[in-house]
Amino acid sequence: MIVIRTVAEMQSWTDAARRKGQRIALVPTMGYLHEGHLALVRIARTKADVTVVSIFVNPLQFGPAEDLAAYPRDAVRDESLLRREGADVVFHPEVAEMYPPDFTTNVQVERLSDGLCGRSRPGHFRGVTTVVAKLFNAVRPHVAVFGGKDAQQAGIIQRMNRDLDFGIDIIIAPTVRESDGLALSSRNTYLSQLERRQAPVLYRALQYGARLIELGERNPQMIIPALSDMIMRETSGRIDYISIVDTETFADVTRVKSEVLIALAVSLGKTRLIDNILAQPPL
Ligand code: AMP
Repeated sequence: MIVIRTVAEMQSWTDAARRKGQRIALVPTMGYLHEGHLALVRIARTKADVTVVSIFVNPLQFGPAEDLAAYPRDAVRDESLLRREGADVVFHPEVAEMYPPDFTTNVQVERLSDGLCGRSRPGHFRGVTTVVAKLFNAVRPHVAVFGGKDAQQAGIIQRMNRDLDFGIDIIIAPTVRESDGLALSSRNTYLSQLERRQAPVLYRALQYGARLIELGERNPQMIIPALSDMIMRETSGRIDYISIVDTETFADVTRVKSEVLIALAVSLGKTRLIDNILAQPPL
């Protein structure tokens, strides 16, 4: 496994791989890897001849009051996990390599970025799509793997890929969870012991919501308050949103008529957690 730190070197490495007829997979991450990331790497390896994992804590996607400086980092551990997992390249650029001082171009997927996390984190998805477009151009992969835990992000990247003709096969992998249901996240390390014990209620609430829909409840205004009560009873968290949305546009549905996404964001202390579940009404 090699570590590459510049865009030029990354491009020439994958150019050479392409010339050899190799299929290239990319797994973008912000590092501090956990089993959720490693599951994406395993999927990538089944889809391509060579797998590139990028590690880049992207300042563009953090708001001014967010946790950019505090975001956990451990390159040595990440590299050893990736070596064990059989990754071929770690692309780990410095911020100045990705964003020179006169950097001024952004990629924005409109409308899909408006709701859910887009509403509470203005500019977040613009930062995500800008960096992912740059990573796509640095690596020029055939296939890229993203996690369904960040469902809105994955949908936005699929739309960007289509609208801007990147021509990359985008794969969305299932969410990897702890045994108690909590979705793995690098930010889980911020949780206090008490918050960690409370956090699994988020997924239990999502499962309850999906069950209500499967049983025939079609009115989001009946479902959302039930989930909110469940979470407020078991945590002292602050609910940012609980929404039932269209799986492609991420717009709120007023009635559940086909498969929907139930998505939520809840802050437990200073840790903002997100999670989601798909739910299908009866025919
Ligand atoms: P991050 O490092 O948090 O930016 O995540 C990098 C990639 O890993 C994104 O595509 C995430 O959706 C994905 N990911 C993060 N957590 C999980 C998880 N628990 N299960 C599956 N994929 C995940």
